[in-house]
Amino acid sequence: PIRLGGTAPPGKLLADVKRVIAVASGKGGVGKSTTAVNLAIGLARRGLAVGLLDADIHGPSLPRMLGITGQPEVRDKRMVPIEAWGLRAMSIGFLVEERTAMVWRGPMVMGALNQLMGDVEWGALDVMVVDMPPGTGDAQLTMAQKVSLAGAVIVSTPQDIALLDARRGVAMFEKTNVPVLGIVENMSFFCCPRCGERTELFGHGGARAEAATLGVPFLAEIPLLLDIRTSSDAGTPIMASAPESDAGRAYAALAAKV
Ligand code: ADP
Repeated sequence: PIRLGGTAPPGKLLADVKRVIAVASGKGGVGKSTTAVNLAIGLARRGLAVGLLDADIHGPSLPRMLGITGQPEVRDKRMVPIEAWGLRAMSIGFLVEERTAMVWRGPMVMGALNQLMGDVEWGALDVMVVDMPPGTGDAQLTMAQKVSLAGAVIVSTPQDIALLDARRGVAMFEKTNVPVLGIVENMSFFCCPRCGERTELFGHGGARAEAATLGVPFLAEIPLLLDIRTSSDAGTPIMASAPESDAGRAYAALAAKV
């Protein structure tokens, strides 16, 4: 990992977590949550104790992606993360209906984030992967300042507009002295499930070039694959259900780099 201007101040939150890694994107819908989930499972498969925190308060997708319908247990007034696919996971989506979370105002969002970090019995973790809210607003800035982030992984599609937003994400982490671990290009290319032909739907290689321009590592190219989408929707992430697939191998390679 490279450092862009110093070290983040040590946070009191998540003190038993060795490394907190934020997975962020400049805008929604680029596959940030999908990347966070599969990266986290990839890290767990490497033998690490891994937590997965859904900080995407307005659009929590972990319950669906991990196939979790239950609510967390409460022990000694602290919530216990739900275990799934070798991870300890926590999401506001375990506690309230998705639609309730959508309409929260800023201070409530920060309160909820504090609770998900401070009032949860995470236990000792080697790494916590945080699925950040999309964009570069107040919630993101506060997270970056409050939590001692070991680094940030920025997810982008190859398209110009998504890259532009990714650039803002990189700038935000630089400003808050969080090292940018690198950029992941998601939906990098499409492989036809029938004939195997490769199509570059959103262009290709843009994120790699952008990473070079920004001087941050380029971490992975994740193809646009039907199996990634269907396994996510079914609550059985591809890294857990088919780790030997092309997608599984791409996520495993990503996990080896962060
Ligand atoms: P974000 O967190 O950036 O809003 P998501 O991870 O929720 O994005 O992904 C948005 C949609 O795109 C989901 O339906 C997800 O299953 C799908 N998706 C994400 N990455 C891929 C991929 N590489 N191949 C196919 N579908 C994908």
